[in-house]
Amino acid sequence: MQCSFCDRNTDHLSGIDAVIDAGWIPTYWDGDTDTGNPVCPDCVSRHLVLDSYSGEFTLRKMTGSFVLPALGPLLAESLTL
Ligand SMILES: [Zn+2]
Repeated sequence: MQCSFCDRNTDHLSGIDAVIDAGWIPTYWDGDTDTGNPVCPDCVSRHLVLDSYSGEFTLRKMTGSFVLPALGPLLAESLTL
């Protein structure tokens, strides 16, 4: 697997268990879309937030220079409408 955001890959790890133990996630959500793209541990903390409702990692929403905290999709929607 290669990270969706940077050049890191999991070639040095053997098996999905080792990959997940290392902090990788196999996919993330962009809005309502499951991207199916893996993300490395560094980029998880940099680009994704854990959605408190679904328990899934979603793309960090940017509104100008303000980064929304992971308070759930309702707050994000109310701010972007
Ligand atoms: Zn990465």
